[in-house]
Amino acid sequence: MYELNPKIRGLTPYDPISGEYRVRLDANESFFPLPPEVRGRLAELAQALDYNRYPDPAAAGFCEAFAAHYGVDPALVTAGNGSDELLFLLTSAFLMRGGRMAVLSPDFSMYRFYASLAEAECLTFRKDGDLRIPVERLISFCQEERVEMLLFSNPCNPTSLGLSREEVRRLVRSVDALVVLDEAYMDFWDQSLLQEAADFDNLIILRTCSKAFGMAALRVGAAVANPVLTRAIRAVKSPYNVNSFSQAAAAEVLRTPGLLDSAREAVVRSREELYQGCAALASHCGAEAFRPCTNFVLLRLANAPEVHRALLARGIAVRLIGDGFLRITAGAPEENRAVLGALEDLLTKGRGA
Ligand SMILES: *Cc1c(COP(=O)(O)O)cnc(C)c1O
Repeated sequence: MYELNPKIRGLTPYDPISGEYRVRLDANESFFPLPPEVRGRLAELAQALDYNRYPDPAAAGFCEAFAAHYGVDPALVTAGNGSDELLFLLTSAFLMRGGRMAVLSPDFSMYRFYASLAEAECLTFRKDGDLRIPVERLISFCQEERVEMLLFSNPCNPTSLGLSREEVRRLVRSVDALVVLDEAYMDFWDQSLLQEAADFDNLIILRTCSKAFGMAALRVGAAVANPVLTRAIRAVKSPYNVNSFSQAAAAEVLRTPGLLDSAREAVVRSREELYQGCAALASHCGAEAFRPCTNFVLLRLANAPEVHRALLARGIAVRLIGDGFLRITAGAPEENRAVLGALEDLLTKGRGA
């Protein structure tokens, strides 16, 4: 009789949220719609695609457009099927079974999941009470625990806090571990290490087109690292990991002048409105809104699970983090108004919370 192995026996399929909600602010997606003329060009690309041919394994067109947009060398860029695929790939290929990997807490929950699939030994480093990363203590942790891979997000999902470029540089220089730096939200902040990726022998930076660029549906991400690491990433990835349409569409969007800047500006404006609204509410009810570096706001609340449930009941989906926080994605103006109005009702009038 066949039995699933213990590593996967207890796992359940990923289900971000089930049910229909009129306001979806739970997945950090962009609310900014691709303009009609860009959608038209994507339709033309779809029309002209060679559907019988395998995709370009090097995703050269995408890598060049990505590199030109960020001012990096395309030879240092590897495309992935979302940065999720790259996370899976890096943890499984760059660690041996039982290899020592460190993640921070709180941080993106998928890291630990991929570590367990890779049968790595996953060590947890707890952030300070203010949810910031104490760099000196983290360096000592990595060295004392002989960590081989350190994986964290900057700015961080779910805290929305960022670590300065200088602090990240110091961290990467001071540890023997390979540092996988997930910059999924760095388009909303200005402390990227992307242009210095080749200066380090132990740094891989991950980026995604899913958050700031509003292309979550296409599943395109990128890894940027020095030539030795890049060669290894390209050698271990599956050959046709990014489909032809996604490669072409992402390149087209990256090459559209001004588009990504307008998308970013719209999202940052929305985030500031959401943050100001949350901070004002928080000051009235003993909660705390963290100053955001991303496209979402983290709110510390004593009764977060109750408020989360009450929001869902009103058709508003946000993310419950642990049992003390809500993570709210910056949305379109009417979505922000809906969530802020409901929160005001729940927090200041005590209804349903
Ligand atoms: C959303 C997210 C990702 C995943 O991005 P994809 O490219 O869509 O797979 C990776 N890291 C963090 C921290 C994220 O929040």
